Amino acid sequence: MSEVRVRFAPSPTGGLHIGGLRTVLYNYLFAKQHQGTFVLRIEDTDQTRYVEGAEEYIHKCLEWCGLQADESALQGGPFGPYRQSERKEMYRQYAEQLVATGHAYYAFDTPEELMKMREDFKTSDNPSPQYGLATRNRMKNSLSLSPEETKHLLASGVAHVIRIKMGNEEKISFNDMIRGEVHFDTRLVDDKVLLKADGMPTYHLAVVVDDYLMKITHAFRGEEWLPSAPVHLLLWKYLGWSDNMPRYAHLPLILGSDGSKLSKRHGSKYGFPIFAMNWTNPKTGEKEAGFAERGFLPAALLNVLALLGWNDGTEQELFSLDELIQKFDLSRVSHSGAVFDFEKAKWFNHQYLQMGSAAALVPQVKPFFEANGIIPDDAYLSTVIGLIRERCHLLPDFVDQGHFFFVAPMEIDRESLLKKWKPEHARFFEQLATHWSTAENNGTATELEQNFEMMATEQGLKKGELMLPLRIMLVGGKFGPGVFDIVQTIGTVEAANRILATLKGL
Ligand code: GLU
Repeated sequence: MSEVRVRFAPSPTGGLHIGGLRTVLYNYLFAKQHQGTFVLRIEDTDQTRYVEGAEEYIHKCLEWCGLQADESALQGGPFGPYRQSERKEMYRQYAEQLVATGHAYYAFDTPEELMKMREDFKTSDNPSPQYGLATRNRMKNSLSLSPEETKHLLASGVAHVIRIKMGNEEKISFNDMIRGEVHFDTRLVDDKVLLKADGMPTYHLAVVVDDYLMKITHAFRGEEWLPSAPVHLLLWKYLGWSDNMPRYAHLPLILGSDGSKLSKRHGSKYGFPIFAMNWTNPKTGEKEAGFAERGFLPAALLNVLALLGWNDGTEQELFSLDELIQKFDLSRVSHSGAVFDFEKAKWFNHQYLQMGSAAALVPQVKPFFEANGIIPDDAYLSTVIGLIRERCHLLPDFVDQGHFFFVAPMEIDRESLLKKWKPEHARFFEQLATHWSTAENNGTATELEQNFEMMATEQGLKKGELMLPLRIMLVGGKFGPGVFDIVQTIGTVEAANRILATLKGL
């Protein structure tokens, strides 16, 4: 087999949906598995849908999750340019070649004429007639007009498009790497525009020409592109490139819990992101949440995405990227849609937060503290992470669970504190605070605990009845890791201050 070359070919029209990110991942895994090349091509030929900043955003998302392309508009490469708008001049010749070989034609219809056709041919069986086999001879194009008329219209610069002439050979098929043999009836497909009046190719022409010129061997894309496959198959054939056609794999849809395609609607209904990173539409100002900012680790999100439609045939759920590169197998990707479960995604993130050293999480966790006005020392933060990571699912949980390690609680849960409070407790805590107020009395959690227990016994109190009040004084509420781990970390002096502040307010 020739060198594997795959491509992710997004249109820069908005945020990167996790379905798109999964396509990136599968491309990446397949490329790495075969020591191949992963190309990022920007499909920006539809100027009306172009959104400023969307391309930079895509690069940023790929960088965040570490799935960088080998060739792209940023990195360059031997098959550039990698932005279709910069390849504009390349496409016309192929469209003209198709006209010359009788597989495409010039069409001069105005928008009004197209509308009229849709009205004229409308029947109850066929409410939206297409431009194609049944209608093309009644329209204004180089098939219905004489060669002289066509020539004249072209010469006088009348706006025109080039359309594919869909064959009427009825059935065509190809072997999808996931779905197996897929058949189409070409008579049901309309004569898609290949080259627009502005000289830009449509997606259909550009995707085929570029996959050919960029020597793409495998094309992975979402299932929503399956209806376009017959057009692409015919273009490969009509352009004489059938032998070079990539192998296609149409990936299953990602579904919401209600079984419909996962969309922004699901995200806003259940309060979870569906984009890789935060995205603001510059035209409308509309903001969409991203997994990155929501506090997912890229490795965890990639693990979640890998399993949306694929498994290795065992019960294993946690896969490192290297393992995925080894084990990923398109023939084990399911045909049917994969349901995205946000709670399960959080479970994965939780698992990843428990892996590796606490210090390794510092760069990920730190920005969330900084966003809350806390600038932590790295070593101290690392200790805190070690103590609380078990309780965290998403990165912002570290702030909720660990805020009190950095600042004394603003408010405390007085109600819970006073529930079993006895007057003699006040005396005990005063003494404890006095004892703790010198740094020399710092110790390990175990030493602190033993000492605490001794002091309690001396005063005829039980350690058990004093633990919850102590926790609330230090933390503000009934949460957090071991209370003496907290004392050891914040230090006895700070603990003493918090105890005294609470006693004052009681
Ligand atoms: N530009 C298409 C998209 O936005 C690419 C489809 C394909 O990969 O062929 O998804």
